[in-house]
Parts: sequence; structure tokens; C-alpha cells
Amino acid sequence: MTSLFNSPDLNNALDWLGTQHGAMLELVQDLCNQNSGTFHAQGVAAVVDRLLDEFKGAGKYPPLGDWVEQQPTPAAEILNDQGHIDAFPLGPTLRAEARPNVAHQVFLCIHTDTVYDLAHPFQKCQFLTNGHLNGPGVIDAKGGLVVLLFALRAFERTSLASRLGWKVVLNPDEEIGSLGSHSILKSVAQQCRFGLLFEPVMPDGAMVSSRKGSGNFTLVCRGKSAHAGRNFAAGRNAIVHLARCVTELDALNHTVPGDSTVNIGRLHGGGAVNVVPDFAMARINVRGVDPEQIDRIMGHIRDVVARFSRDADYQLNLTGQITSPPKVLDAASRLIQERIEVTGRHLGVPIHWRPSGGASDGNKLSGWGIPNIDTLGPVGDHLHSPDEYLVVDSLVQRARLAAALLMSFATEPLGTQ
Ligand SMILES: [Zn+2]
Repeated sequence: MTSLFNSPDLNNALDWLGTQHGAMLELVQDLCNQNSGTFHAQGVAAVVDRLLDEFKGAGKYPPLGDWVEQQPTPAAEILNDQGHIDAFPLGPTLRAEARPNVAHQVFLCIHTDTVYDLAHPFQKCQFLTNGHLNGPGVIDAKGGLVVLLFALRAFERTSLASRLGWKVVLNPDEEIGSLGSHSILKSVAQQCRFGLLFEPVMPDGAMVSSRKGSGNFTLVCRGKSAHAGRNFAAGRNAIVHLARCVTELDALNHTVPGDSTVNIGRLHGGGAVNVVPDFAMARINVRGVDPEQIDRIMGHIRDVVARFSRDADYQLNLTGQITSPPKVLDAASRLIQERIEVTGRHLGVPIHWRPSGGASDGNKLSGWGIPNIDTLGPVGDHLHSPDEYLVVDSLVQRARLAAALLMSFATEPLGTQ
């Protein structure tokens, strides 16, 4: 590895990235000024079109990799408030790859969608007085898209590139849990030894070491409707029964040891106020740091629901699953961490780690047995809000880190040192 850090190849790549600050910043703004809320499939498609051009070789840049294409993403199926499944069309998924026949393959991934739909007032970028760039998706995750793209451009300029293959997936639905793209993610990621994802680092530069597992559940309660005046006693109030049940589910937060949580996120039911409601639904988010914790809390949740189901006047139905398994820091992920630490040290980028309660596609990769680090993106804060900002100097800094990391994997494949 010492040889890499003294090589002109590396220094040329780092120097070249230093000349790309303006181009990177311009591309982030172009990508963010195009709305790509998850359900705005045409907006996502426009972002993908732009990225396709970049991969094919836009302006002064040569094409990247052996091929690039967009492929349709299966629709996202989401249970609506009436308890039925709606299918939402999604934007395309971009895929690209280089040197599929090389033994060592790395999976590179980040999403093209944002949480801001077309009706949201937050649509355009602006510079703040402190020089940060404020805009929809600047760090979550369009800054990461640009870091990935330029890190690959820098890597492909070096002679080391011939020793490492890469597969890129840019998915259009991470913000809704990759409901449509997960099968594409899985099939491509499973062809690779490990993954790098370009979610933002924390505002103080901390990268994420481990993430809680997370899943969304729906609890539907059916009772019996009746006229609230003429026939009140014949009714069975689904809202009230469900409310009593979710109150007990919430109480689990104080009884189950560990960091697992049950969040009652949404309640819906009833209609005309003079009718005893026969339908109510709750949406519930469950999280835990390891599979055992999640099994335990899920067991308690099922017990509570089973108890409330014993009342024959009501039907309760719990559906859903842990879609993001816990991303635990295993030995293989630790090897990638160490490589990032060594690389960071050489580049003068301080690297430190912190666990996070939020899930990313990195959780899914972990669940499929693919070790990964998922915070290779730029620095910033306040994602999912109109205060979202990017520290603009971190674009080049993080692209250098990612490019040097790829070069280190090409020099010395992970797990062989
Ligand atoms: Zn996000």
C-alpha cells in the first residue's frame, strides 16, 4: 500500500480532481434544480438522462466503463389508507459497469430520487452567505452522485484501473425504501465482493459504522358500523379498539431493553361523524440494532396484536416486514473501514465513525451478506428539510477519498493483505 501512496498515478488522479471543483459544483446544481421526487418519475428520468450523458462521455470527459444503460424499475406497491395496494410507477434505474471479467468487483451505488415532490416549495439551489450550497438533494444524494461520477473518472485515468471491475446502480426509490429497485440492487450487488454507497457523511465528517434495522408495518382493524344515534350499541368502533391496541404497542418502548423502538407513525379511520367506524389503520415503524433485538420486539408486538384479536367483535391484521435488516459492523466491513482510515490518513482527511439509527440501502446489502460502507458522499446537514446544505469543498475532498480507495483496492484487493 505504501507503494500506492508514493505513486505518481495517485498524485496525478488527486491533482486532476483538484481541477474539477467548478465542474462538480455546476453538475450538483444542475441535478438539484431538476426535481426528482420519488413519485415524479419523469423528473427522475430527466436526472437519469443527464447522468447517462455523463457516463457516455459528456464534453471533455471520455466515456466511463464498458457500457451504461437505463432499465425500467418495477413499480412500487404501497398499501393505501383504505387497506388496498396502489402501484406507483418509478423512474428508471441507471446501470453501468467496467471490466466484468476482472476477479475483483466493487459495487457502487447511490439514489437519484429525493423526498421533495413537485408541489414542495423547495425546488432550487442557492448559495448561503457562508458559502454552503442550499438546495433540494444537495447532499441526499445528488452530491453523492457527483462524487461517485468524478471518483470513477479520476480512477479510470490511472493504469491501476485495469485491475478492478466496478458495477454502478443508481436507483430511483431509496427514499421509499427501494421498494421497486431492491431486486435490481440485489442481483447486481451479489456479483460483487463489497459495496461503496455515497450517502452523505455527518456534519462533523463522521462516517456511519452501523445502522439500525428498520421495517414498516400496517395494522388494520375492522369492527362493525352502525348509526351513532339510532343503533350505537350495535356498532363496534374500530378506531377505539385500534387506539387501545397501539397504546400498548407504544408502551413496549419502555419495557423492552435495548435500543429497539416502536413508532406509531400514522392513524387513519372513520368517515362521517354520525357513524360508528368499522375501519381503522395504523402505520408503525420498528427499529433495532441487531437481529435478536428485532426478533424480540417483533415477538412482543405479535403478542399484543394476538391479545387484541381475541375479541371476536374485531378483526386485526398486521402486515409488513423488516425491509432493512440491521447493518452490523462485522469483520468484513471492518476491513473496508480500515482501508478508508489508511487512505484518509494519507490524504489528510480525518476519518471517524458513529452508529446511526437511520437505514440506507447499505442495510439491504448487509442483509444479503455484502459488506459495505455507505457514507462515501459529501459533507452537509439538514437533509429532508429546506435547510439541506452541502459543504462545497467536500465534493473534491470526498471524490479524492473515493478515488484513492478504488486505487487501493486495485493495488491490493480487500482481504488478501
Ligand atoms: Zn434521504
